[in-house]
Amino acid sequence: MSLSKVPRGARWAPVSGSANLDLAYRQLWNKPDKAYAYVCWCQPPFPESDDEDEGKEKEEEKKENDCDGGDTCICGKPAQEQPDYKWITTYACRRKFMCQVDMARIRDPANFDMYTFNDHAARDFVEANGNWREQWVVCETLSFFLQTDLAADLLEMGEVDTIIPLIRLVGRTVLAMLAQLERQHRLGPDSEVKNLGLIMSIYIKTARNMQINELLNDGDEETVELKLPDGSTEKYTFDLGKLDEYILGYAERHSITVPDAPQDVEGAAEELPARTVEDLWNTAESFRQYESDQGTTNGPGETPAVGGDRYDITTWSSAERREASFNKRDPFSKKEIAALKLGFMLGFE
Ligand SMILES: [Zn+2]
Repeated sequence: MSLSKVPRGARWAPVSGSANLDLAYRQLWNKPDKAYAYVCWCQPPFPESDDEDEGKEKEEEKKENDCDGGDTCICGKPAQEQPDYKWITTYACRRKFMCQVDMARIRDPANFDMYTFNDHAARDFVEANGNWREQWVVCETLSFFLQTDLAADLLEMGEVDTIIPLIRLVGRTVLAMLAQLERQHRLGPDSEVKNLGLIMSIYIKTARNMQINELLNDGDEETVELKLPDGSTEKYTFDLGKLDEYILGYAERHSITVPDAPQDVEGAAEELPARTVEDLWNTAESFRQYESDQGTTNGPGETPAVGGDRYDITTWSSAERREASFNKRDPFSKKEIAALKLGFMLGFE
């Protein structure tokens, strides 16, 4: 297939492994039937339990049924062939998740901060405005990625001042997605979105972990103006610290079963806003605010940006890589650099 059919993202440097990965992902947009079909994961790509003993048991179990990416396991098999199977996502989510992991691998570890994953997700979400299927893929992928050890390490390493706005942005993105699906009558037990309960359950778990780690606190209320379908407006005050309750609230309001829903959290269905005609959580505006507060520039006078490839070592000049490397050698060979320029991604296995 020609790589020129789908436009290259504007956020990338001229030679960039991230851009190549992103472009490979974007090829999927040419095949929406394939991209947005639901497929199985034989096991989640992250530890399932926070409880260490239980975690170990599961690890043992995992070893017994080793995943071989779909050769003998059910990874990638159509979800409709496995009725009631829990671990399903869109095929696009599978691809995007793998792409995120690869992108994480080509970041310079010394600068490997938060700019590499949630930022991309928020930006992808805003850029996919008008395409709810692609926005759902962003939400699916982010939910998975936040559960990985990679994300846990980053959250531990990061500065609280950076993490809190990021977590709040994630919260808004999820709520904006649910409100949008609600507007479109796509929330419910028979929704064409086949993994609503699963993804909601993962975000609830993430929200609770963030609360325990004091990265998502309640008491920080915001008031927005809701635009109602009849043309009137109404003030609405919300508290992102109650993210888990709001998500459960949407589940309750639309009779969606959330697997392993925590018993000690009340859904806040009655506190949810009325149906509105546009994104009441102001996600795009919040992203722009976040970008101007937390973004970095490539030089004086440039606009701050997030979610780019500045920490991707494949975008650096050979001299910059030599300078940053321990042995003062460019870790990439001439052949590898030539391949990169042609649009191939390096193998890091
Ligand atoms: Zn598998």
